[in-house]
Amino acid sequence: MLQQTVVKTVIPFFKRWLRRFPDVAAIAAADEREILTLWEGLGYYSRARNIYRAARLIMRQRDGRLPDSYDALRELPGIGEYTAAAIMSLAFGKPYPVVDANARRVVSRVLALKKQDIRVKRRIKTFLKKPLPPRKAGAFNEAIMELGQTVCLSRKPLCESCPINTFCLAFQRNLQNLIPSKIASGTIQKRSILLLLIANDKILARRKESGLFAGLWLLPTIPDSGRIKAAIGGFIGSAAKAEDSLLRTLRPRTHHYTRYSQRLKPVVYNVSGKGVHPGDGWRWLKVGEIDRYPFPSVYRRILDELRATQR
Ligand code: SF4
Repeated sequence: MLQQTVVKTVIPFFKRWLRRFPDVAAIAAADEREILTLWEGLGYYSRARNIYRAARLIMRQRDGRLPDSYDALRELPGIGEYTAAAIMSLAFGKPYPVVDANARRVVSRVLALKKQDIRVKRRIKTFLKKPLPPRKAGAFNEAIMELGQTVCLSRKPLCESCPINTFCLAFQRNLQNLIPSKIASGTIQKRSILLLLIANDKILARRKESGLFAGLWLLPTIPDSGRIKAAIGGFIGSAAKAEDSLLRTLRPRTHHYTRYSQRLKPVVYNVSGKGVHPGDGWRWLKVGEIDRYPFPSVYRRILDELRATQR
């Protein structure tokens, strides 16, 4: 849950999750739709799907017990180097260094490593392995990550009060604000129109079966420059009477996912003319029952606004 998300945001999600799923068996026995609904608002839904798949494998193949070896953990869906090392050190006290963005920044500065390529990543890991205390690897890893989060800040690190400033090369050379070197964020901007097509208190939506948002429901979107009426005809069939049926526009919102930042302009259209029929997997969902279906959180906020404006 904490990947790409700050602790403060995660706490209510984590508590709610633990109340509903107190153990692996509870996750494995759940319905994927419920898992995704509880994950709403955290983004990166593949993590939730992987937890679900891992829980089912653990129940089926490992008698409900999380493996206590690094290699066996890596075989579970969604567990990469970072998560496996975190579990090994925090749950089992084994000497595996955890290299998150905070730890990477601290060590890059301590060693004055300007570059951030794969060799540097290996060097950081090797460096962190040496001082890992036996049986206290978890505490050590947490300390390094917390140092990065609270003292060795990415902007304006608090070097004067840093407990390791005596052997930090970046501090000694006054390079702390230049390391790690900034990499272009690579965010791709998109602008789209989000179509909220309403027919007899139902809304058109589609469940994604694969890819990035697999298991979630999405609403139709078209490029910002697209022709809305022609697009509506494409979504619900050419017999639709979409002309002159714009009901209202809603607040534009931004949807952040992977490397994209998508600006969504929601428009509400009434399409309750004769002959309305969805194709290509699109379905009509009752607006009053929309909470039962998992949507990306930005869509959820738009749907909440839609319902509020319908009252
Ligand atoms: Fe980071 Fe400054 Fe501490 Fe070095 S001395 S680890 S740059 S806070």
